Amino acid sequence: MSEQCFQKVTPELEKELRAMFPGKVYTGSEINEDYFHDEMPIYGKGMPEAVIEAGSTEDVSKIMKLCYENNIPVTPRGAGTGLTGAAVALDGGVMIDMTKMNKIISYDEENFVVTVQPGVLLNDLAEDAQKRGLLYPPDPGEKFATLGGNVSTNAGGMRAVKYGCTRDYVRSMTVVLPNGEVTEFGATVSKTSTGYSLLNLMIGSEGTLGIITEMVLKLIPAPSETISLIIPYENLEECIATVPLFFKNHMQPQALEFMEKEIVEASERYTGKNVFPKELEGVQAGAYLLVTFDGDDMEALEDLTEKAAEVVLEAGALDVLIADTPVKKKDVWAARSSFLEAIEAETKLLDECDVVVPVNKIAEYLSFVKEAGKSYDFEVKSFGHAGDGNLHIYACANDIEEETFKEQVGKFMTEIYKKAADLGGLISGEHGIGYGKKEYLASYLGDTQMRLMSGIKKVFDPKGILNPGKVIVS
Ligand SMILES: Cc1cc2nc3c(=O)[nH]c(=O)nc-3n(C[C@H](O)[C@H](O)[C@H](O)COP(=O)(O)OP(=O)(O)OC[C@H]3O[C@@H](n4cnc5c(N)ncnc54)[C@H](O)[C@@H]3O)c2cc1C
Repeated sequence: MSEQCFQKVTPELEKELRAMFPGKVYTGSEINEDYFHDEMPIYGKGMPEAVIEAGSTEDVSKIMKLCYENNIPVTPRGAGTGLTGAAVALDGGVMIDMTKMNKIISYDEENFVVTVQPGVLLNDLAEDAQKRGLLYPPDPGEKFATLGGNVSTNAGGMRAVKYGCTRDYVRSMTVVLPNGEVTEFGATVSKTSTGYSLLNLMIGSEGTLGIITEMVLKLIPAPSETISLIIPYENLEECIATVPLFFKNHMQPQALEFMEKEIVEASERYTGKNVFPKELEGVQAGAYLLVTFDGDDMEALEDLTEKAAEVVLEAGALDVLIADTPVKKKDVWAARSSFLEAIEAETKLLDECDVVVPVNKIAEYLSFVKEAGKSYDFEVKSFGHAGDGNLHIYACANDIEEETFKEQVGKFMTEIYKKAADLGGLISGEHGIGYGKKEYLASYLGDTQMRLMSGIKKVFDPKGILNPGKVIVS
């Protein structure tokens, strides 16, 4: 909860909302419990006093005007797949469900852009664009998140190593400010030096500055060919040591993921499919790289694959397995995409960290994390986007009390965030700060940067009603 005092949604206000949005307002027991949390419930649950399904920019503007006048907190909500407690109504108030604003409005194939509403699911845009031979490059693991949520968290994902993050694909957006005013940031142009970039301030602002109600996103021609490689290693150290070699040897993968054997096993139990080799000539695999190359020329890709195989085998890989058929590629990437669900399925208490460190520091960082984890009663599991140094570290426990878990995890996270900072890294590479990470953000960024961030928040949201208590301490 934030420290501010807000008004409640009174019966009169509820009546007014129901009259404005017939059949779209839910209160009390009408509200599905899924709205009380996101995918990381350890950061707390909160029940909104009213959930309203928005259908248009005008709807969002009307809701914001009313809430602004009445000093009611508002939480914008996409699909609720976030991992930081950012879309949880910790102060009650109104939650605006954006998922019904889910139209792909139009493509402009001359300018390579698509105009979408924020509730469109990533999966739906990816499939639709593919039919036109186009690619929307951002590829976070959760395909059923909304594009509005992706933009608001600056989601990353598997292809960020080659194509960049969501931020790199947002051209412009329509935003409803906390007082209900509607404005446009950016334009359908490919460069700008036109004043402060308010567009970029909105991207990754986790619903704290304004509500995005329409976006123009950049697309690229879809590469026609891909090859994926599964590369097993005896241990994590050797596996991670290979990562910088891809770049040093001028091989630009579309995706370059690492994973420990425990995660792979959990994922195979979860999906029921055996796709990763476990033993090679009597040596047990302890960790893996999963690499994809893309392009339009299959021969060139095969040459690249050969070159990659030479480099990694020389660096200690146990083997190189090629997934070149659609089924093999689908199975192996489906296994990768289900890592988090697989961990969740086997774990009662879960917390995670999403640090990003320079690529040549990953090995040092992960061995520090492993060593640090030995002092606690939970298990530490890791996987992540090795190609861009973005690591997902999970603390998992089944046999300890929640309070003990939280206390131990607090100490563990403090240790490992500090180490990331010492190595030149940052608190979050793609999941955001939300509620769960804001204390770490404040201690990492220090007073000057937090003062600037608070100042920006006040300019956008003088009453502090929009997603209070998230990102910064408001
Ligand atoms: C299995 C799994 C795998 C994942 N893999 C990745 C990954 O690889 N990379 C990655 O980056 N993330 C990943 N995530 C995290 C999550 O999917 C992303 O953070 C996603 O961007 C959240 O989108 P959402 O629609 O669920 O948003 P929500 O969780 O509903 O909201 C997230 C934030 O965005 C705000 N918001 C939502 N819509 C709007 C809007 N229209 N206007 C203003 N603010 C808005 C909310 O207030 C909140 O602050 C994963 C999650 C899961 C469960």
